[in-house]
Amino acid sequence: MTAPRICLAGQMPGTTAQDAHVPVVVVGGGACGLTAALMLHDAGVDCAVLERDATPTGSTALSSGFIPAPGTQVQRAAGIEDSPARFAADITAKAKGRAAPHLVAAYAQAIGPALDALQARHGLQWQVLDGFVYPGHSALRMHATPEKTGAGLMGRLANAVAAAEVPVVLSATVRELWVNDRQRVIGVGYEQPGGAMQYLSCDAVILACNGFGGNAAMVQALLPEMRDALFAGHTGNDGSAIAWGRALGARLADLGGYQGHGSWAIPQGALISWALMMEGGIQLNVLGERFHDETQGYSEASVHVLAQPGGVAWNVFDEPLLALARSFPDFVGAEAAGALKRCDSLQALAAVIGCDESKLIATFLYMTSGESQKDAIKRTFSRPLQAPFYAVKVTGALFHTQGGLDIDARCRVLDAQGQPFPNLLAAGGAARGVSGDAVWGYLSGNGLLSAIAGGYIAARTAARLTAQTGDFSSSASLP
Ligand SMILES: Cc1cc2nc3c(=O)[nH]c(=O)nc-3n(C[C@H](O)[C@H](O)[C@H](O)COP(=O)(O)OP(=O)(O)OC[C@H]3O[C@@H](n4cnc5c(N)ncnc54)[C@H](O)[C@@H]3O)c2cc1C
Repeated sequence: MTAPRICLAGQMPGTTAQDAHVPVVVVGGGACGLTAALMLHDAGVDCAVLERDATPTGSTALSSGFIPAPGTQVQRAAGIEDSPARFAADITAKAKGRAAPHLVAAYAQAIGPALDALQARHGLQWQVLDGFVYPGHSALRMHATPEKTGAGLMGRLANAVAAAEVPVVLSATVRELWVNDRQRVIGVGYEQPGGAMQYLSCDAVILACNGFGGNAAMVQALLPEMRDALFAGHTGNDGSAIAWGRALGARLADLGGYQGHGSWAIPQGALISWALMMEGGIQLNVLGERFHDETQGYSEASVHVLAQPGGVAWNVFDEPLLALARSFPDFVGAEAAGALKRCDSLQALAAVIGCDESKLIATFLYMTSGESQKDAIKRTFSRPLQAPFYAVKVTGALFHTQGGLDIDARCRVLDAQGQPFPNLLAAGGAARGVSGDAVWGYLSGNGLLSAIAGGYIAARTAARLTAQTGDFSSSASLP
């Protein structure tokens, strides 16, 4: 197996035949790559998606598939007040001002048109999740396909790509970027099962191969607090884009940013929706104590949970919240796998958690009185939890990384001086995101936001590149 590498050359092997050239190569067939491919198709630009797996899934299919977007047709039809500026302000506030402003603005503006285009031109149906607002969002703007799963989202994107007859080369792991002496990518080399290398020349490349969450050595070096955490994303997130970027002299940014999650059911390995925490649920450690303000966000909660004895916590909620939980397919799966414990009293809950009942009584007293709460765990509850209680054992997990290749607002990869490479683009998890450089900067949905808005923008840039206008000075508005 070849490591990701850069090959310097004026000509690539075996690419003189016409079928060995395509205007745009898209590396990776997740949400980012497939969105880019569909938008290129709509712009009349041929592309090929190269995907390492036999069936494209990526982290996208493992995700909940929830995408935040302001001003979509479905959001407007539901009468929800929102705007790109308001969304951008929420992203910026969550990252405490440390998210790249040019990408925040570009993605907040692009995601609505991107979802509308996928709906109008490729039949993806969106619904806006209602009933609760995710931490840090000031409007109901989380969109999902009717399945409300990442697998449903991926299935619909893959069907749309098949219907558009966009070529997707499967079991094709891109190993090499071929670059000439003017830093133009002239093509890629990809490995097929059995180790044979194939070559494809192109006019532009979009790196949509996600981040480094599946590369243990990189996680250890760049995200030491997550080195022992479970990785819930796709193993193909091996850091290829960063390896190519380093070899090329590209600038990397926000490498300390990532999406963690403090609500990963164990041993079932399933996501328990944070909506439960936002609506009044709590997290207790094995001593029966709350240890953080759950409403701050699920990403930073991963670190708080991992810091507890045994690196675990119990999500505790009650009957009304159980009904909400059961509206999420991931929860239904976890419940079927035995994750849910019903406790008719605090005594029963203490037995499940393995703590003193007196500790639990004190914790529940804090919840209702608000007194004696330590600052770090202060939170106002609109109502106390009532028996019967429900509990799910969880740990903190790494979902995906948010740092990567630095890009401009057109998704062009930047060199060490901040100048764009001529025809190398990156988006989704392959590029820096909009979460700044720490775990707490992640606003719910920043992952698929970067993937879909980034894929949409990168496709537009690639279409312009292949049309050889080369004019990126004007800030053309998105459709
Ligand atoms: C459990 C879980 C829940 C999540 N829920 C949400 C959510 O609800 N909302 C949200 O916004 N985000 C969520 N995320 C994050 C989200 O899944 C990612 O941010 C998003 O899927 C990234 O999309 P992508 O297209 O960049 O990467 P991916 O979907 O991972 O696609 C990358 C593709 O590139 C391929 N690839 C990699 N290297 C190569 C190579 N060298 N050659 C060829 N192909 C290659 C991979 O096989 C993969 O198919 C969640 C993540 C997890 C793990």
